[in-house]
Amino acid sequence: MTQVTRFDGHAIAPETEAFLGQTHKLLIGGEWVEGSGEMETLDPATGLALTSFQTGGKAEVDKAVAAARKAFDGSWGRMTVAARTAILHKLARIMEETATLLTELDILDNGMPRFIAGLTTSNVVEMIDYYAGAIMRIEGTTIAPPRHIADETEALTYTLREPVGVAGQIVPWNVPLSTAILKMAPALAAGCTIVVKPSEMTPLSVLALGQMICDAGFPEGVVNIVNGLGQDAGAALSEHPGVDKISFTGSTATGKRIIAASMGNLKRVSLELGGKSPVMVMPDADLELAIPGVSMATFFLQGQNCMAGTRIFVHESIHDQLVEGLAGFANSMTLGHGLDMGSMQGPMISDAHSAKVMGYIEGAKAAGATLVAGGEKLHRPGNFIRPTIFTDCTPDMAVTREEIFGPVMAIQKVATTDLDELAALANNTPYGLSGSVWTKDLSTAHRLVKRIRSGHVSINCHGAVGTNIPFGGYGESGWGREFGNEGLDAYLETKAVTARL
Ligand code: NAD
Repeated sequence: MTQVTRFDGHAIAPETEAFLGQTHKLLIGGEWVEGSGEMETLDPATGLALTSFQTGGKAEVDKAVAAARKAFDGSWGRMTVAARTAILHKLARIMEETATLLTELDILDNGMPRFIAGLTTSNVVEMIDYYAGAIMRIEGTTIAPPRHIADETEALTYTLREPVGVAGQIVPWNVPLSTAILKMAPALAAGCTIVVKPSEMTPLSVLALGQMICDAGFPEGVVNIVNGLGQDAGAALSEHPGVDKISFTGSTATGKRIIAASMGNLKRVSLELGGKSPVMVMPDADLELAIPGVSMATFFLQGQNCMAGTRIFVHESIHDQLVEGLAGFANSMTLGHGLDMGSMQGPMISDAHSAKVMGYIEGAKAAGATLVAGGEKLHRPGNFIRPTIFTDCTPDMAVTREEIFGPVMAIQKVATTDLDELAALANNTPYGLSGSVWTKDLSTAHRLVKRIRSGHVSINCHGAVGTNIPFGGYGESGWGREFGNEGLDAYLETKAVTARL
């Protein structure tokens, strides 16, 4: 095992160094306040502590919800559309100027390679501008008035779109800044106020964002940040009677708990949950495209990716050629610290998660799947698992059925090209988040896409998400959509108004 050195010997920007040295409190009512507990966050590539941060529980969540309610009923609720638009654009400009800090914090806290962190930072800036621009396009409709009034007199019926109120937002660790912003930006655009709870494993980029929100001039209490454990701060937020809406991204198991906790006041609930997405490789697939594309469908973000395409169905006529190409790609991937410019894959988030992923790998071997790449950890600090590929997988194996959230691909060889049979294989899962179809025949592609029960399917690419493209799951992958217009709708209520004239 190599010696552990801070950031594997890589340098960080002075602003990141300064940020790590600060005391990290909770943001409540526009002030950084003391929490009731403290935790450490680690660099998963080295296992060394990055910094400590303060945490809260029910008492802090109560204060944050009260501050959010006050801002909703007051300053933020009364702010003009033009002012709300301007303040969001201002936040986007501040984030652009501090992109290095935000990017490095997600690299350090999560372990993701720089090319992914850089992409997500520019995407979240785009997302804030996108939703700032959408505020002016929030529109109701005019509708024929009800007959019992219209028969007697002239009348006017129209709808207003109004903010849902105080939004609780609970985010996971796998893309920390991005999953927070894709909830916060539409909520703020809609006119909601927010209490956000980042993952206890990756609190840093949202804390840095909190200071930027203060600097942009958001009124106090519009955005509140309460770090803490899921069972403390997260549970308190999801069951809080003063919270009108919960938006949650995380595992399906926790999503089910959020639904139960939300029942007290029938909060609106949006859920972005787990996945086990199918990748369908047809006999005529362009292998030059499919080999890197299918590899990254599984290995992007070290497989800690909700839309990862990890169930590969490949026609027997091209099976061996595809497998050889995928194994070559997997073996060529450079693993390393996210700060290393050459790194394509980082570490697993934690010892516990790494042990879980290795458990699936050992389980697949024991179940009779054939290992053709990876299957082991690197002998170095941090939990780096080599990109792993199994062939001869069968539908009953855990490696094919369960979300592993690691760099593990399960390949099944198929003999059929019948689209209904292929769709039945693809849909043999409780999930329905993403998926892809690889073929040169566009007719086959679109007909198969139509048969796949999933919220997001790509053709000759995988995980083609974008700011303006709705994203969310069928089945146990969630409720509702984020991104695009539907992401904004999730924070709006509709009020119908009729006037006798
Ligand atoms: P997780 O469910 O363990 O935790 C997610 C968040 O919920 C964390 O902030 C955690 O503190 C909090 N939490 C935990 N228990 C809670 C409780 N009882 N009440 C309220 N909050 C609670 O998930 P994770 O391990 O952080 O993230 C990985 C999961 O997230 C994977 O299943 C992945 O597929 C999913 N995910 C989905 C999407 C999507 O868009 N569909 C995106 C990213 C991640």
